[in-house]
Order: sequence, then C-alpha cells, then structure tokens
Amino acid sequence: MDLSVLVLEQAEDPISPLKRLPFGMRGLSAPTIEAFYRRGMLDDITAPQPAKDDPGNRSAPASAHWMQQARRPAGHFAGIQFYQDNVDTAKWQYRLPSPAGTSMVIEMEHLEAVLAARATAMGVEIRRGFSVEELEQSGEIVSVRAGGETFEGRWLVGCDGGRSTVRKAAGFEFVGTDPEFTGYSVEVEMADPDKLQLGRHYTRTGMYTYSRPGTIAMVEFDGGAFHRTQPITLEHVQAVLHRISDANVTITALQLATTWTDRAHQATEYRNGRVLLAGDAAHVHSPLGGQGLNLGLGDAMNLGWKLAATIRGDAADGLLDTYASERHPVGAQVLDWSRAQVALMRPNRSSRALEAIIRDLIETRDGATYFAERVSGVSLRQDLGGSHPLVGRSAPDFELADGTKLGERLRRGQGLLLDFGPGSPLQALANGWSERMTYVAGTAKDRLGLSALLVRPDGVVAWASDTAPDLEDAAQAASRWFGEAKPVAESA
Ligand SMILES: Cc1cc2nc3c(=O)[nH]c(=O)nc-3n(C[C@H](O)[C@H](O)[C@H](O)COP(=O)(O)OP(=O)(O)OC[C@H]3O[C@@H](n4cnc5c(N)ncnc54)[C@H](O)[C@@H]3O)c2cc1C
Repeated sequence: MDLSVLVLEQAEDPISPLKRLPFGMRGLSAPTIEAFYRRGMLDDITAPQPAKDDPGNRSAPASAHWMQQARRPAGHFAGIQFYQDNVDTAKWQYRLPSPAGTSMVIEMEHLEAVLAARATAMGVEIRRGFSVEELEQSGEIVSVRAGGETFEGRWLVGCDGGRSTVRKAAGFEFVGTDPEFTGYSVEVEMADPDKLQLGRHYTRTGMYTYSRPGTIAMVEFDGGAFHRTQPITLEHVQAVLHRISDANVTITALQLATTWTDRAHQATEYRNGRVLLAGDAAHVHSPLGGQGLNLGLGDAMNLGWKLAATIRGDAADGLLDTYASERHPVGAQVLDWSRAQVALMRPNRSSRALEAIIRDLIETRDGATYFAERVSGVSLRQDLGGSHPLVGRSAPDFELADGTKLGERLRRGQGLLLDFGPGSPLQALANGWSERMTYVAGTAKDRLGLSALLVRPDGVVAWASDTAPDLEDAAQAASRWFGEAKPVAESA
C-alpha cells in the first residue's frame, strides 16, 4: 500500500546563513550516521560541497578552534575535551568496522537538502510557506489550518521545533528546568583580535570559545534573560564579551549573531490520540555536546516504520506506543547530560572544583572511553526487554559471505532475520513474515559469537541468540515487532 505524506513547512526558503558554517555546523553521532548508511544516503551526506561565496573564507570548518589543534579531539563535555588517541574502542564489543563512523560534522543546509531530495524522490509532498496555526482531532482524522487552507490526514507528527505550535495546540505537557544562561554564537570583526585567547576558556562570569578569525561562542549566566527578548546589537555583544573574557577587545563589525539557552524541557507524552511529536518539538535542551539533531533523527528513525505499519494495518498491537516508551527515556538522558554540563560550567567555586575532577577523569583511558561512548551514542541501548545484551542496541555491521554488509541489506526499510546457521528451521519461520522482513542465511567474516539475530527496520536488534536458536523465542520477537505471521501460501 502506498502511503501519502505531506510536509507543511513555514519557511519559504530552506537557505539561511544560520544553517551554514560556522553556526550551521552540526556534529552527527553514530546512530545518526548509521541511519543514513542504512538508508543508502551516506554518500550524498558526505559528498564534498562546492565552495560557497565566502570571500574571507570565514566559515571554513578548518577555522573551528578544535581543528586548529595538533591532537585530534573526539568530543567534549562542558568544553572539556577528550581525545581520540585515548579512547579504547576495543571495549565496544558489538561494533564492527563499518562505512558509518562514530562521528562527523555537517552543514545543516546540506543535510536538509539531502533529506528533502530523498523525501521528494519517495513521493512526499513538501509545501513551503505554510505555517500550522491550529489543529483538530475528530474520529480518525486530524485537520490542520495552515496558510489559510485546511489539510486533513489520518496522523499528524509535530516536527516544528522547540516552540512547536502542534505541541501547544494538541495540549501536550512540556516540563523541565528553566534556563540559567544565555548562549551567544557571533561572527565579528575585531580591531585587536590578538587580545582574545584562542580556544575555550572558563572565566569568572561564564565561558567563551574563540576560533579565528572572528567566530566566538559565549555563555553568560544571566538566567537566560537575554534570549529572544531584545535585538542583538554590536554594543551588547561587545559588553558581554568584555564581561565574559576580561579582554579589552574592540568589535568593529557584527556580521552574524544568534542566541540560545540551556532550558531543558520534555513533553511528558509523545502521543496524544493521532498526534505525535518528534525532534525539538518533543524535547529542548542546550546545544552543549551537540545532541539535539541526533536525538530528533533518532526519533524519526524509530517512529517512521512503526507509523507506516500502523497505517498499513499490519502493525503488532501496541507497536506505535513503543515509540514513546523507547524514545522518551533516551530524550530524558540527553536532557540530563546537558544539565550536568551546565552544573559544571556555573561561574562559582563548587563548579570549578567539579571541573578539576572531570578534567582528571576525562584524561584517563576509561574516562575518555566513557565520555566518547555517551557523546557518540555508541553505548545507546533502548529498552526493548529481552535478555541478550545486544537487544535494544544498534546491529553490528556484519560483513556477509557474499561481501555485502548488514547496513546495505537494510536499505529497503524492512526488518532482517540473519541466520548464521544456514538451513536451520529459522527459514521456515521467516516465511510467515516475508513481506515485512528479509531472511538472510550464511556466515559472516566475524559473527561475534552469534548464531542468529532479528533486526528491526531502524537497525535496532530485536532478538539475538548465541546458541542454537529457540524457535519459540524468535517467533515471539517477530510477532512482537512485525505483527501476526501470514500463512506461508498466502505470503509466498
Ligand atoms: C548553536 C547550536 C548548535 C547546535 N549543535 C548541534 C550539534 O552539533 N549536533 C546536534 O545534534 N544538535 C545540535 N544543535 C541542536 C539542533 O540544531 C536541533 O536540535 C535541531 O535542529 C532540531 O531539529 P528539529 O527539526 O526538531 O527542529 P528545527 O530545526 O527547529 O526545525 C523545525 C522546523 O519546523 C518549522 N516550523 C516551525 N513552526 C512551524 C509551524 N507552525 N508550521 C510549519 N512549520 C513550522 C521551522 O521553520 C523549521 O524548519 C545545535 C543547536 C544550536 C542552537
């Protein structure tokens, strides 16, 4: 069954300087990169971009302060870096070599263009310049008022950002902690840039990061008072920079400026009837550690196949509700990760003491590995129940006997039953779900001690076995995620 999807986007123009380097730079984590790989989009995402009209080359990624260091950073916690050469990847028992690495950076504008092109190629209609104003749920229909028109559908997913109209109109509760600071990302020209120290610095009043030639991020603990309340003027940025850095630098031009805060709120539910939330509409937090976009794409990957199965009518009972039960705890963890960084950044003595301890720990191999696991999402495990340690984790990228990789086999968006004991009774079992999952038998270059595993369309392991597979267990897992088996004759 073909499903029809309509996207209503309020912005007329997808292009914005805030979606370009340096402010539009986004760090992608392992689950996000894997998602692109498993949908065959990684080559487009990583394709080199033509040079933009940028005469001073202000925005080249190499100007980021962390690219200007000799030792390769693997990420940071509240600005405290940990380094690639200190991360013990041998601890990542279920990670195999894969074209999908654990981190990369990308420009938002390019990412959005790739996603929009894919959606359009799949028949999704994107209508720009339509701002959703109101919605109503009635029976099996959700209707939406946008741009003077009414649109109707069977389901509505609010992906309309942190100030989501959909969230408010559908009556979702949005709870959490209020901001402690205003963050600034500015691009400036300075008369005397050498007075400002390069890199990240904690100061008496907050924190700043300076990358040449004029990109500055600042955090001022003002209770989030400035964010969106006043226009960002050169004079204001100058005053904040003086307060934060104590350096007597003179800003001569303000080219670009945006603010953000550490407000951390999350919807208590992700579904209200036929309205669902995903991305910043469901959760907001500070950009510290670069998690928000990854969290939103993780929501999308989790929700997409479940909603499609629900609409097609072949979803297992309660499948759609597992979206919130799996993703809400992941969102809550990210909000806490962001709050912990704020606690460490406060300009007071207790936070400096805490900072010293974290600096010591992050320098150790175990410490760097722990932070790398959290920031890159390698340790992410969604709660699916099940006793095998791989269940709920991203499937290892097995290299199969024919040279193909597991990630490539997931491109059609179906589930996968991988059977390392060819000819086992799993094949007969798989026939019952042949329209929803692919059965692949054979061996793999390194099968990590597994005999079989069931992978969901989002690449998450739903069931795994190290020994001769228990057929009842496997059938239960298949029906839990793919609904009732169809009689073989019917599905053949
Ligand atoms: C300085 C900074 C750095 C960051 N760095 C990172 C990073 O490195 N890694 C990372 O993972 N995250 C990062 N983030 C967070 C990340 O950018 C966001 O979490 C992410 O963009 C959220 O995506 P979204 O699609 O949910 O919401 P948005 O990006 O806000 O998109 C919402 C869309 O909905 C549209 N819209 C809004 N209202 C309506 C309406 N009523 N009707 C129709 N359309 C509407 C908007 O025009 C917009 O296109 C950073 C954020 C900031 C501020």
